[in-house]
Order: sequence, then C-alpha cells, then structure tokens
Amino acid sequence: MKILLVGAGLSGAVIGRELAEAGHDCRIIDARPHIAGNCHTERDPDTGVMMHVYGPHIFHTDDQGVWDYVNRFATFLPFQNRVKTTAQDRVYSLPINLLTINQFFGTTLRPDEARALIESKADTTITDPQSFEDQALRFVGPELYEAFFKGYTEKQWGCSPTQLPASILKRLPVRFNYDDNYFFHRFQGMPRDGYTAMVAAILDHPRITVDLDTPFTPQMGAAADHVFWSGPLDGYFDYRLGRLGYRTLDFERFTTQGDYQGCAVMNYGDRQVPFTRITEHKHFSPWETHEGTVCYREYARAAEPGETPYYPIRLVQEKALLEQYVDLARGTPGVTFVGRLGTYRYLDMDVTIREALETVAVFNRNSDPMPAF
Ligand code: UDP
Repeated sequence: MKILLVGAGLSGAVIGRELAEAGHDCRIIDARPHIAGNCHTERDPDTGVMMHVYGPHIFHTDDQGVWDYVNRFATFLPFQNRVKTTAQDRVYSLPINLLTINQFFGTTLRPDEARALIESKADTTITDPQSFEDQALRFVGPELYEAFFKGYTEKQWGCSPTQLPASILKRLPVRFNYDDNYFFHRFQGMPRDGYTAMVAAILDHPRITVDLDTPFTPQMGAAADHVFWSGPLDGYFDYRLGRLGYRTLDFERFTTQGDYQGCAVMNYGDRQVPFTRITEHKHFSPWETHEGTVCYREYARAAEPGETPYYPIRLVQEKALLEQYVDLARGTPGVTFVGRLGTYRYLDMDVTIREALETVAVFNRNSDPMPAF
C-alpha cells in the first residue's frame, strides 16, 4: 500500500519503519526543515554542545519492548534526571522528596514522620480530585503547593491550576525517602548522538522517503491508500469547530564558560520570575566535555495559529470541544490520528512509541486503527 505519514517525529518514524518492514511504501512529510519533531537535537555551532532544541527530553520507560526498540537504533548512555527548583529564595530538590520536605520545613524527619506531617497538611475533604489544584492540596497541602506548583503551573499553562486536569500533577511523584530521580522507571538514558540521529536511523529504510519543508495538502492525502496524521488534531479539520488550546515555548539562549548552574534543569517556582526553568544542555551529555556552555531560559505561552505546539492543555472546560473533534476523527476512515498532537494528549516518548507499535499491529491485521484520545 501507499502510505502517507504526516510528521517525522517519533510517531511518524516508528509507524513508517514498521510499515516499511511489512512491505508498504511510506512517504513521510514534515513542514519543518528537520526530522524528529520536538525531540530534535543538534550540536550548537559555537560550543559543540548537543542541544535539545525544543526543550529537555529524557528517555525513561518501564516498557522492556520500547527500551529494546530504541536501543536498536541508538546507543543509550546512562542519564538520570535530577531536577532542582529555586523557590522563595532557596534551592530545593525535586521531585518532592524527604530532602525537600526537611529543607522546606526546617526539620530532620524520618520517612514515617514526614508522611505524617504531609498527611496532616493534606486536605482530606477532597476525596476525588479533578483539578490540578485539588490534586496538589489533597496530596501535599497548601505550603508545598504554593512554593513549588502554583506559580510554576500558572506560568507553564497560562491559567489557574483550578482549570487544569489533575492528571498533569500525577506525572510527578512525592517520595518519603531521599530518592531524587525525577522518574521512577527501570530504564532511563540519553541517546549518545542525540534523538535526531536515532530518528534518522529509524527512518533509514529503502521503502521510506522523507520530504522536509513539505506541508500537507489534501491532494497528497487523496493520493495515498492510508494517512497517519501526527499533526494537531484540530488542524486536520482546519479548526472548523474552533481551536483546542496548545502551549508553545520560547527559548532565550545564552552562553557562558564552564558550568552555569551545576545541573541540567533548574525550575523556578516563583510566579514573579517570568520563565519556568533554565536548561543547561551540556549536562544532558555528561560523558562529553565542553569549555563553553549553552543555556535556555524557557517561557511558555499560548500557541498562535501556525506556531509549533508543544503541550495540549486539555482544560477541564475544553472537554466538549475535544469530544466533537474526536467524533470527527472517528468518522474519517483512512486517516489515523497518532502522537501527542494527533490525539491531543500529554504523551511521553515511550508511550508514543508503544502506541505507534500497537497502531501498526492493528493496521497489519487489516483494520483501521483507532487511537485512544
Ligand atoms: N510542575 C510544577 N512545578 C515544577 C515542576 C512541574 O508545578 O517545579 C507541574 C507543572 O504544571 C508541569 C507539570 O507539573 O507542567 C508536569 O511537569 P513535568 O516536569 O513533567 O513537565 P515537562 O518536563 O513535561 O514540561
């Protein structure tokens, strides 16, 4: 079959590869001048540092199959994400762990004591937290919420945490020990040569052609037997029902010598600091040495039409519009919506790959795959 894949990010690359291996001819187009979507990496020309051009991407998974898959196409080196946050004039360890709690409250509590303290602060009248704020108040109480989550989240999402789904906060653990690994997964690492090299290896198949700087046109879709769409869900339908909200990021680059902040990611919890975090990219490749260093100050804002979207917002009150688009998608045979933008979900890289593999498994059984939305 002739397959058109719109978007050369992880979804498009993995689906294209699997279909190519099954004997289909795959054309992958991307409107941008590079592959790998928002996990694109490239070396900074001045310093040689490997840059996460669209912000930090750390590969982590519990899925053995996905881990094996990415290791087929890249050499992964060990990397553990140990994020810090600057809040209320101090530096704290994230995710919230025993050190954070003891630093914040000026205590020397042991695990059970810390758990009891946090439980005493938690709002147990909230039995079924729906919003981000409810989830935070229910699980960490008002002080830690104010210091670490409220301001950061307002900056990141541009709205009140009362309007955001609880699922966003569920990404972050609270630990009553000194484990400050941001992720809980068994497998964690960084592709030695960057994500773009990994995606290039996935795409390296004689039945795959890639056209960059190539926006989708309906004629291209009509010429294909099946389309996999990893662009914005509402974009496929020309936003005809209105726009789903996406956040985009602006990066303010600066360079210096040596080590600017001593870690890869420093968050800024205070509302009055306009950026959410500073990323110092060379710390993502601790096996490399560079004299210079490149940092990004990261600012989040609403994505305007035509701008690169990063995060689907999924406001609680946006659900109805989303459902209408999902109905449209379900009623569009021959087009499968995939990935973070295509299904309008806050997916991590490993889940994206797992879903891509499953999508192809369904397709190869001669049915039209219908993603989870
Ligand atoms: N978050 C926060 N304070 C932090 C870090 C995260 O309030 O210091 C919240 C914020 O709403 C963020 C969400 O938790 O969007 C998920 O954080 P994560 O680090 O997973 O975000 P990502 O790296 O995907 O942008």
